Amino acid sequence: MANQVYDAIVIGSGITGGWAAKELTEKGLRTLVLEAGRPIRPEQDYVEHVGVWEVKYRGLGDRKREMREQFVQRECSAMDEWSSKFFVSDQENPYTTDPRKPFLWIRGRQVGGRSIMWGRQSYRWSDLDFEANAREGIAVDWPIRYKDIAPWYDYVEDFIGVTGQAEGLSQLPDGKFLPPMEMTCAEVIVKDAIAKNFPGERMMTIGRAAVLTKPHNGRAPCHYCGPCHRGCSTRSYFSSLNATLPVAQATGKLTIRPYSIVHSLIFDSTTRRISGIRVIDGQTRQPLEFRARIVFLCASALESTRILLNSATPEFPAGLANSSGELGHNLMDHTMGAGASGRIAADEKMMQAGRRPNGIYVPRFRNVKQKHPTFVRGYGYQGSGYRDDWERGTQLVGFGADFKRALKKPGPWLFTFYGFGECLPNPNNYIELNKEKTDAWGIPTLNIHCAFGDNERAMLKDMSLSAAEMLTATGATEIQPFIEDNAPGLTIHEMGTARMGRDPKTSVLNAHNQAHEIPNLFLTDGACMTSSACVNPSLTYMALTARACDYAVGLMKKGEL
Ligand SMILES: Cc1cc2nc3c(=O)[nH]c(=O)nc-3n(C[C@H](O)[C@H](O)[C@H](O)COP(=O)(O)OP(=O)(O)OC[C@H]3O[C@@H](n4cnc5c(N)ncnc54)[C@H](O)[C@@H]3O)c2cc1C
Ligand code: SF4
Repeated sequence: MANQVYDAIVIGSGITGGWAAKELTEKGLRTLVLEAGRPIRPEQDYVEHVGVWEVKYRGLGDRKREMREQFVQRECSAMDEWSSKFFVSDQENPYTTDPRKPFLWIRGRQVGGRSIMWGRQSYRWSDLDFEANAREGIAVDWPIRYKDIAPWYDYVEDFIGVTGQAEGLSQLPDGKFLPPMEMTCAEVIVKDAIAKNFPGERMMTIGRAAVLTKPHNGRAPCHYCGPCHRGCSTRSYFSSLNATLPVAQATGKLTIRPYSIVHSLIFDSTTRRISGIRVIDGQTRQPLEFRARIVFLCASALESTRILLNSATPEFPAGLANSSGELGHNLMDHTMGAGASGRIAADEKMMQAGRRPNGIYVPRFRNVKQKHPTFVRGYGYQGSGYRDDWERGTQLVGFGADFKRALKKPGPWLFTFYGFGECLPNPNNYIELNKEKTDAWGIPTLNIHCAFGDNERAMLKDMSLSAAEMLTATGATEIQPFIEDNAPGLTIHEMGTARMGRDPKTSVLNAHNQAHEIPNLFLTDGACMTSSACVNPSLTYMALTARACDYAVGLMKKGEL
């Protein structure tokens, strides 16, 4: 096995691994993708059109099995009877936390990773985000600015297809959008009320999502069937399986090896480069080794850092590429789940058509023009205006035929704002290797220490108040503000632990996602993030990955790698 040599090895085939595979193969590199999970065959594994009457537990799921095997994953709202097969077994993939600091680590282990179940919301960062650490003296400065990544956002959006509306906001730069999806009449009412009551401060736009609203790059537009987290047979939303991996495959340069669990990287102290990858075959449990000129770590934020921690050598006793001591530190996840809902006096003759796989978005407005007195950074709201449906049966009082008839009528128009807030980098939020506890393949697991701080909590309070304020301005009734007490991890935007930076003494990666200390090692998933902004992060991971691939291949061509 040791003489299997490739130009490049990519570890992981999720959102970032898929992009690395596409870019590296298109640039002519013979590329091996090592993926821990099983292969996925869309024609049999995608189940978005399977009816509730066709599944054993009628959509309620096998709760006993879930409690036993997926006790963490079942906390994710996208895990259901259909999609549970796309989430990991918590029995096979354990981790530990401080008892008073829960962290819900939601993962997918299969070809495609979490790109199958992701929510597809796709927003650009701005310089408000890239400059924040430097401006406030928090953590370290990002080594890049918006101008460095903007062409790569263009490049990625051109390929994946993002529906959205250009709005000309400095804090949420416009992208290369496909036609926007329509708002419901309740959403139009709320949007107009925000524009009238908060001019120059707040606004509402339709969500920006990696879903096609017209044919794009050989993929069909969305037909609004709804349950995207179960797959998409028409390839209408972006995933590795639907978009990047088929393109990589078509180059003839790609080898995907499923059931290949990367144990650690082999460091050659003479060349000071990665000389090989140690893999455990997930089916036979045989140890294997693979070699390549360059390595892209794309196993997802915490898994990539776990691999580096588990690759310690005498030169790097605290983990590979970790002379800075920063590896594992500054774990972040967005806060989620403060907001408000209410009843909107919209036209009750109007109905929603189809199941739009997207909502609305209220871009960040805190600390954009004016400094907020109780917290730094900001938050945005996702949400929607919708008619309450038959599920309101639990709140309706009634019995017999009249009750059934009442349930068949659509309910009132409701509206919910659901906030997502920035999380500050904090060195006390960190991961470390737990050698006492191993996973099903004998690999040391992670001990995760993470909790939200005062800034995040102050922001959650404001999210709820501001949402209620906007609903009040709309004339909504039955307004219910809420603050959910969600543990970190559940937003599934976990990032940080191998940050980018200008100085090798205080960061792990340089401005091109290359390890400061190991030139042929690139890490482009969420581990690289130096701060978290408040928008969904995957579009930024994709742009950073494409940019790093371009840089790495450039170095190879110049003979510098
Ligand atoms: C329900 C849900 C909704 C989400 N909604 C959004 C959203 O709206 N917008 C957004 O921006 N983000 C969203 N996310 C987050 C998004 O899915 C992740 O940010 C993104 O998938 C990260 O990409 P990745 O390549 O780093 O990791 P993943 O997509 O998780 O892929 C990692 C891959 O690496 C493999 N791997 C792990 N360890 C090893 C190993 N040791 N050896 C070999 N392979 C390994 C895994 O099996 C997996 O296939 C959502 C996620 C979920 C689950
Ligand atoms: S709603 Fe659209 S994107 Fe989602 S699964 Fe259906 S067709 Fe695909």
